[in-house]
Amino acid sequence: CGIVGYTGSQEASSILVAGLRRLEYRGYDSAGVATVEHGAIEIRKQAGRVRVLEELLRQQPVKAHAGISHTRWATHGPATDRNAHPHVGGREGRRSVAVVHNGVIENHASLRRELEREGFEFVSQTDTEVVAHLLARELERIDDPYEALLRILPRLEGTYGLGVVAANRPGELLGARLGSPLVVGVGDGEHLLASDAVAIAPHTANVSYLQDGEVVRLTPRQFEVRHRDRGSITPRIDRIDWKP
Ligand code: GLU
Repeated sequence: CGIVGYTGSQEASSILVAGLRRLEYRGYDSAGVATVEHGAIEIRKQAGRVRVLEELLRQQPVKAHAGISHTRWATHGPATDRNAHPHVGGREGRRSVAVVHNGVIENHASLRRELEREGFEFVSQTDTEVVAHLLARELERIDDPYEALLRILPRLEGTYGLGVVAANRPGELLGARLGSPLVVGVGDGEHLLASDAVAIAPHTANVSYLQDGEVVRLTPRQFEVRHRDRGSITPRIDRIDWKP
């Protein structure tokens, strides 16, 4: 339902949660955060309100400069802690990537069977978890998570707004859009990613709306866009004048 991502010099988790708060009006049943720092992915997620997630983060803080967050409106699997996003991909409990997703992966059942046969264990009932394991499998062959994301997208049938962080690239934030909105916020030495510009508004007026098929890689200072099938794209930056 709602996606917020951040990479920059500020503490990420408080920005991510504040972003989720601004998306609360859309309705949701669960909330969660994934951060990546020093090659380790940390997850905090729960069924319930964003303030429940905030309380969890107070008890078990995370410190990082990049991460993704999500408010879920369940389509596949009930509203439980386990089904809350982000979802982790990796074999034998390794956390190679974390993924948040808006939309529906229609062919999730056949992808799940394929991945289970290869030893990937699923812990949720969501359609989203296949995306995390597909990425993790690709990252066993190649190092670059952006390249891995571009390679797995053709396997997905359905709709997605995706946010991704990978353990081997702290400071890197990835996104992909097909049928579910995503917008990049271009700040001063920082970038944001969100499903709705309202979550970006407190940080910057410079935004770039992704089009269907576009895939982004963000670092604090770089903003790269490629189309799934057509290669490199020069992003168009719009200025939003937020009325006070
Ligand atoms: N289909 C996903 C799920 O049920 C994402 C739902 C959403 O867009 O929040 O977990």
